[in-house]
Amino acid sequence: MQLEGCSLIGAGKAPHRGKGASALEPATGTVLKPEYCWASHEDVEAAVQLAESAFEKFGALPPARRAEFLKAIAQGIESNAAVIVERAHQETALPQARLTGEIGRTCGQLRLFASLIEEGSWLDARIDHADPARTPVPKPDVRSMLVPVGPVAVFSSSNFPLAFSVAGGDTASALAAGCPVIVKPHQGHLGTSELVGRIIQQAVKTTGMPEGVFSLLYGPGRDVGMALVKHPAIKAVGFTGSRAGGRALMDAAAARPDPIPVYAEMGSINPVFLLPAALAERAEAIATGFHASVTLGVGQFCTNPGLVVTPAGADTERFLAALTLLLAATPAGAMLTASICEEYRAGIERFAGVPGVKQVAKVTVEQNSAGHFAGAALFRTTGANFLAHPHLMDEVFGPSSLIVEVASEAEALQVAQALEGQLTATIHATEAELGTHHALVEALAIRAGRLLVNGFPTGVEVCHAMHHGGPYPATSEGRTTSVGSRAIERFVRPLCLQNFPQSALPDALKEGNPLKIMRLVDGQLTRE
Ligand code: NAP
Repeated sequence: MQLEGCSLIGAGKAPHRGKGASALEPATGTVLKPEYCWASHEDVEAAVQLAESAFEKFGALPPARRAEFLKAIAQGIESNAAVIVERAHQETALPQARLTGEIGRTCGQLRLFASLIEEGSWLDARIDHADPARTPVPKPDVRSMLVPVGPVAVFSSSNFPLAFSVAGGDTASALAAGCPVIVKPHQGHLGTSELVGRIIQQAVKTTGMPEGVFSLLYGPGRDVGMALVKHPAIKAVGFTGSRAGGRALMDAAAARPDPIPVYAEMGSINPVFLLPAALAERAEAIATGFHASVTLGVGQFCTNPGLVVTPAGADTERFLAALTLLLAATPAGAMLTASICEEYRAGIERFAGVPGVKQVAKVTVEQNSAGHFAGAALFRTTGANFLAHPHLMDEVFGPSSLIVEVASEAEALQVAQALEGQLTATIHATEAELGTHHALVEALAIRAGRLLVNGFPTGVEVCHAMHHGGPYPATSEGRTTSVGSRAIERFVRPLCLQNFPQSALPDALKEGNPLKIMRLVDGQLTRE
C-alpha cells in the first residue's frame, strides 16, 4: 500500500493541498514520508454529509451484514499486519512484539463486536404485552430496544496506535451499534492511521456498506476535531487522551444547541494499596510485579500505577530497596511524542518541587534532535503530606510513581477517601486482610471502575465483563466502558414502540422472536 498523505472521505480521498505535517520517528527524530495535509472545512462537511446519508441504511442493515463488515476489517488488518507493524514501529518506537500483540487485540475486538451483534441479545429487547381489560385504564402494548444514535466522531489515542486508534475499540463499538464513524487520527501515527483507514475503506466496498460509514480526517484537534464535535449531524464522540483535551471536547459538546455525549477516557493514577501482612509475606515479589507494570511501554498506559499507599516501616523499606534496584537497571525508553515527553519532564519536575516529597529513583529525560527518551521516576512522601498537597494526585503520564507511607490504617483510608475518580484501584492483601478492610474496599469501589486484588492494573482484558471506565475525571461518564462488549452501549439509545402492529415492528420485537434473541417479556428473561 502506497501512503498518500490524504484524508479519506467515504470511498474517495481529499485533494492533497494546503498545510499539514509529517510523522517523526521518536527514536531517531527522522522525518517520515509522506507529508500529511490537513482536511479543510469543506472536507469535514463532505465527510459528515456522507455519514449522515449512510446512517439510516447502515443502522437498519441486518446484524449479520454489519458483522461481516467488522470481520472484513479484521481480515484486512491481519493480511497487512507486517506493513502496519513496521510503520507503527517507526512512528511510535513501540516494540514490534507489542504492536503485533495490538494487531491481535484490535482484530479480536472487531470479532468480539461482530459476534455480539450476530447473537443479538445486546439489543435489550423488552416486551410488555397489552391488557385491554385492565382497569381503570387499559394497558397499552409497549416494546423497546436499543437503536444507534447516529454518526460518531472518534479521536484516536496516541498510546494504542492500533487497538485505540482508527479501527480500535471506539470505532468497532460504534460501527457494531450501527453508527457511521469519522476518525480524527492522532498526529503521533499518521501513516499507521492511513494504512488502517484504507483497509476499512476497502472493507466498506467489498462488503457493500453504504458509502460514508467511515471517513478519516487529518488535522489539528482544535480545528478539524472541534468542527466535528460541533457539527449538528454528529451525535456522539469517543476520545482517549489528556484531561485537558477531553474536557475541551466535553465543554464544546455541552455548549451545542443540541448537546451530545462525549465518552472521554482521560487519565488515572491507579492507586495500589499494600496491606501489612501481604507486604510482610512478599515485599520483593510485589516490587517485581510493580516494576514491570510501572515501566511497561515507558509508562504510557492509562492504567499505569502512579500511586502506592503502604504502611511505613521495615517491610516498605524492603519493597523500596527491591524496586529501586530494578528501576536503576531499567534503561530509558523512547516516548511516543515530543509533547508527551515534555509533559512527563514537567510532571516530574513539579513533583520534585513539592515540599516533603523525596525523589528515590534518578530520572533521565533526554530530548534532542535524535529523539525523546525517558527513564523511570520514583518519589516518596508521607500520608499527611500527600493529603496536604492535592496536586500530588495529578497524573504524570509516563513511568513515574509516588510512594505514600501511611502511619496507620486510618490514614490509608483517609488517602483512599481523598482520591478522585480512577480507572482502577488495586489492593495487595492476604485473604484475611481483605475480610477485615471493608471500609477501604468500599472507599475504592466508590472511586474506581475496576478493583484488583494481588495484581497490577496494566493489561486490560477485552471481554464481556470488562469495565474500563470510572468516575470523573478518569472518564467523562463513569457509567460506561471503552473496553469490552459493553462499550457498544455508548452509541445507542432506547427506542420505545407503543401499540405498533406486528407487521410494522422490527424483528427484534416481533411475537415469535424470529431472531431467537434473549428478551425481557412481561418481566421474564426468555428466548421464547
Ligand atoms: P491529547 O493532547 O489529549 O490529544 C488527544 C487528541 O485530542 C488529539 O487528537 C488532539 O488533537 C485532540 N485534542 C487535544 N486537545 C484538544 C482541544 N483542546 N480541542 C480539540 N482537540 C483536542 O493527548 P495525547 O496527545 O495522547 O497525550 C498528551 C497527554 O494525554 C499525555 O501526556 C497524557 O497525560 C494523556 N494521555 C492519556 C491517555 C489515557 O489513556 N487516558 C492516553 C494517552 C495520553 P491534536 O491533533 O491537535 O493533537
